[in-house]
Amino acid sequence: MTDSTPAPRSDDEHPVDRVGEATIHRLIDREHDLLVMRADFGPLFAAYLDHVRRWESEPDDLSQTFMRQGLGAAALHLAARPDGETVGFTINVHHPPTNVFLTGDNTECTVVGRVFTKDVKPSEESRIFVQSSRLGAAPIQSVVQVEGLDILQIFEQYWDRSEQATARFVEIDDAHFAMLLALPEADDEWLKGLSRDQALGIVDDELKSLGRRVYKFLCGCNPDRMMELVRGLFEKDPEELFRGDPGVEILCPRCGRRWWLDRAEFDAATDAELDAAADAASGDDPTSPED
Ligand SMILES: [Zn+2]
Repeated sequence: MTDSTPAPRSDDEHPVDRVGEATIHRLIDREHDLLVMRADFGPLFAAYLDHVRRWESEPDDLSQTFMRQGLGAAALHLAARPDGETVGFTINVHHPPTNVFLTGDNTECTVVGRVFTKDVKPSEESRIFVQSSRLGAAPIQSVVQVEGLDILQIFEQYWDRSEQATARFVEIDDAHFAMLLALPEADDEWLKGLSRDQALGIVDDELKSLGRRVYKFLCGCNPDRMMELVRGLFEKDPEELFRGDPGVEILCPRCGRRWWLDRAEFDAATDAELDAAADAASGDDPTSPED
């Protein structure tokens, strides 16, 4: 080996995503009864940009701002929520017609998202749809009307109108974001009225640490999950998907990554499921001749 270390290999067939992490510091402000969280989202956003450039296309400037703020806000939101929770956000922006999709979970501590600007049906008003779920509980859904193009302010409106709690989301700079969440004894009106500089003063205070959570940009899609997803949609009519071709390229709806789906594997999975169903049925049948 020479002393010039070769760059990590990533060929066209097997590109490897860079996994970007953000360490969210969770702090408590006892004086004002606030949960304060902050992180550097630079590496996490860089991983998103890597991913979207590889699998889709270069996002325009506004889309990049939406995703920079959106991934940060989604991760901060998750860091304020209990372990094991999964949350999905869809923001329909009225103008320019745009859909911002963000999702993440507190088990693997991941966040992922996409922005849609082509063929988006204009909504009459901007809205945020939020679905959260925890293992063993029914999912909770809510939708609220929101105003403006600032994703951090949209998250503040969501917390105010749906969670009925006051949260401030602050952009410290392009990469650093913070969230201040009112706990039960906090003065909500005071928190709402803080200027950005006053909020930053609290974030910079010496506060007691509640620990850290590390979130990474990662979808978790793989060939098995994509097969399961597509079979759920096209099991009854595979021809509608394949149209006589031996395979088809599909996009992960969560992250936009492209996957190749083989018709023979699709049919084999269907046959395996039918066999399993037949075995289960014969096992349940007391008159079954197989003993
Ligand atoms: Zn994916």
